[in-house]
Amino acid sequence: MFQKILIANRGEIALRVLRACKELGIQTVVVHSTADADAMHVRLADESVCIGPPPSRDSYLNIHQIVAACEITGADAVHPGYGFLSENAKFADILAAHNITFIGPTGDHIRIMGDKIEAKRTAKRLGIPVVPGSDGAISEEKEAKRVAAEIGYPVIIKASAGGGGRGMKVARSEADLEIALQTAKSEAGAAFGDDAVYIEKYLEKPRHIELQVFGDGAGRGVHFGERDCSLQRRHQKVWEEANSPALNAEERARIGGICAKAVADLGYSGAGTIEFLYEDGEFYFIEMNTRLQVEHPVTEAITGIDLVHEQIRVASGGGLSVRQEDIKFNGHAIECRINAEDPRTFTPSPGTITHFHTPGGLGIRVDSGVYSGYKIPPYYDSLIGKLIVHGRNRVECMMRLRRALDEFVVDGIKTTLPLFRDLVGNPDIANGDYDIHWLEKYLAKEE
Ligand code: ADP
Repeated sequence: MFQKILIANRGEIALRVLRACKELGIQTVVVHSTADADAMHVRLADESVCIGPPPSRDSYLNIHQIVAACEITGADAVHPGYGFLSENAKFADILAAHNITFIGPTGDHIRIMGDKIEAKRTAKRLGIPVVPGSDGAISEEKEAKRVAAEIGYPVIIKASAGGGGRGMKVARSEADLEIALQTAKSEAGAAFGDDAVYIEKYLEKPRHIELQVFGDGAGRGVHFGERDCSLQRRHQKVWEEANSPALNAEERARIGGICAKAVADLGYSGAGTIEFLYEDGEFYFIEMNTRLQVEHPVTEAITGIDLVHEQIRVASGGGLSVRQEDIKFNGHAIECRINAEDPRTFTPSPGTITHFHTPGGLGIRVDSGVYSGYKIPPYYDSLIGKLIVHGRNRVECMMRLRRALDEFVVDGIKTTLPLFRDLVGNPDIANGDYDIHWLEKYLAKEE
């Protein structure tokens, strides 16, 4: 087992990882920017190293400084959290070259999944159902027309290097195709420095359903069921549930089995999430994230398994603590992402939190890095906390969520809490009846 883990992140996820390390009796080092000197993860860690000024590229993305911090403190492993360097293959390779364990998959696996064309090809080869579309990159209009005619309109053009929902264009007919292809290519080139794009069938009303998987790096793979993250705004997840209100146990076991076998065959190590669009009973692979996800706690709530413990165990060579048959799904869980944003316009609302009071009681978990008197720096993302609620079934979970939202107090800044108080009373949400466009339509109506 590791002696000392360096946590290369900030905010709630740094604290989340720190808690797991403490439980496992592992020493912790955190790194931080000058803007985060008062952050909770810095206060609670055994050691901390200031690695640079506020901008992420000079601190949380500064590989040299982070490796130096490992060497100075004698950390033998790094947990990257999510975002920042968590899916940076070069970072994983550099740590390996310094004999420091990256708590995550190999650089090669990160690379494969970071290139969407390669990821889709790999998924297909591993027996994962994919969205019908081009086999590789498309650059000629003629070829685009041929593929689109074959799969049928509407189609979507996506950047191979894409991320965060950028570089995607929908074409509803052949007349739209040329412009869509050109804009997608130039947007992708500008945003990612790589203008490779591909085409796939555009699904009109899918849900976003993702499978939590784990590999032990030695040919064993398991799945921890799915999360439904269909409630999104601008491709950013807002509310996540486990299990999905749309799946039954048989569908779960079938797609879960396919995903677990795929990670086993790939020789994948650590946590991963295989994301699908789901429509009319069919799954369509869109991407695989090779890290811990923001929304992992809903899976922990229904399985009772600490996924960060598992990540650390696997990375240290100790293997998974569970077999597939040990993983049981109990009840229902919902996560609300509480952002420091105006709940109507979603513009960031940094500032000082004058009062912070979190709900408690049975079935409630709050993962947050903030406290009363904390000043939110304007340099990073606006997530200030996650409310995760568990109940024996979805109805109980929703009752408890409504109560927990009433208890939650964040004064001094604007947050997205009022949005969740509206959503929890909405009949479509109560019925689990929503797709990936539902929230945008709802917000447009409210305006
Ligand atoms: P990114 O890595 O940029 O987030 P994804 O491939 O995960 O890109 O897609 C992001 C979102 O774009 C999806 O959650 C979905 O809302 C939409 N999307 C992607 N592919 C399709 C498709 N074939 N049909 C309909 N919507 C799609």
